[in-house]
Amino acid sequence: MIYLDYNSTTPLDEKVKEVFIHQIKTGFANPSSFYRLSQKEKAKIEYARDVVSSFLGVREGQIIFTSGGTEANNLAIKGVVFAHKNKNKHIITSRIEHPSVLNVFSCLQEEGVRVSFLNCDRDGLVDPNELISLINKDTILVSVMHANNETGVIQPLEEISRICRERNIVFHSDAVQTVGKIPVNVEKLGVDLLSFSAHKFYGPAGAGALFIRKNIEITPLFSGGAQEFGLRPGTENTPAIVGLAEAIKVAEEKLSLDKTKIKPLRDKLEKELLKRIEGAKVNGHLKKRLYNTLNISFPGIDQQSLLILLDREGIFASARSACASGSLSPSYVLKAMGRNDKEASSSLRFSLGRYTTEEEIDKAIEIIFSCVKKIRKNIGF
Ligand code: PLP
Repeated sequence: MIYLDYNSTTPLDEKVKEVFIHQIKTGFANPSSFYRLSQKEKAKIEYARDVVSSFLGVREGQIIFTSGGTEANNLAIKGVVFAHKNKNKHIITSRIEHPSVLNVFSCLQEEGVRVSFLNCDRDGLVDPNELISLINKDTILVSVMHANNETGVIQPLEEISRICRERNIVFHSDAVQTVGKIPVNVEKLGVDLLSFSAHKFYGPAGAGALFIRKNIEITPLFSGGAQEFGLRPGTENTPAIVGLAEAIKVAEEKLSLDKTKIKPLRDKLEKELLKRIEGAKVNGHLKKRLYNTLNISFPGIDQQSLLILLDREGIFASARSACASGSLSPSYVLKAMGRNDKEASSSLRFSLGRYTTEEEIDKAIEIIFSCVKKIRKNIGF
């Protein structure tokens, strides 16, 4: 098999697996209990919090462990909105966010919160000047993702955070696709809230976190105990938290190594597919993009048919976000980038990772080329 869907999820790192299983086998005690057995578990959680804080360069603020990126996004956005008591609340996001942000905005819109959407250009980038034009006196929150899951395009967060800071607006970023892949420093980026998820960087699924800058008010989504500073009540999932911290430690070690290994492979895949497949086009800014992601259109091709053929040949790729891929509609991300239905429906995402080899990429190039040829022949393209 050739797995080219690392943006969807990643296999567990061996070291992470070891630590995670050891924790499941040995660390059952409730971290909130009084006795020594529990205090040992509590210490592991606090150690994990320190590991994450140091990795993200947190100076003043808190890391709250959650069940993943979706929960962290919900907690950040709803948490800020619920904490603001004024009536005319206005919030802004982009049209290309993950469903775990977009659907939170829709939900809040139905509750009467005013919502505005930032567009993006053909390269998949939002325009900070458009953000300025959308902000009004009632704007309390802006949420813009760090890198897009479908195209890998990296947004200008530093500019956006400056605009928000100058106007006293809380800025949240969904960094699920960047934490563990590229350096993410909350001080440098200037974000107030930042979400991420362990299963995107070789950690366990069901483990994530939210960074909350000091003095940012958040109303918890659940009522319950005092765990996670009362912001995320419920007995902690210690194995998931310990596994997440271990994945962070491995990422810290391998961050630049990953890039130097993966980027040339992604570039080879891109170059060869563009060369061999007539009309093939890359979607997304060629430079401001994650080094592991390739979103590419093959005119005349229906993505569903190509994915099925590739699957039969043992190549696993995606058309869009796993959370949206139950639907047959063309990618809303590519449509927001100005692609028409046909173009959006002929695009595939290949995302590479730590275990991708050159041999696999060479093989994938041949197989993708022959599958596209076969489909085009069948439809007389
Ligand atoms: N945000 C982005 C950009 C994602 O790619 C994903 C997962 O695909 C999520 C959020 C959701 O994260 P999780 O699967 O941990 O809930």
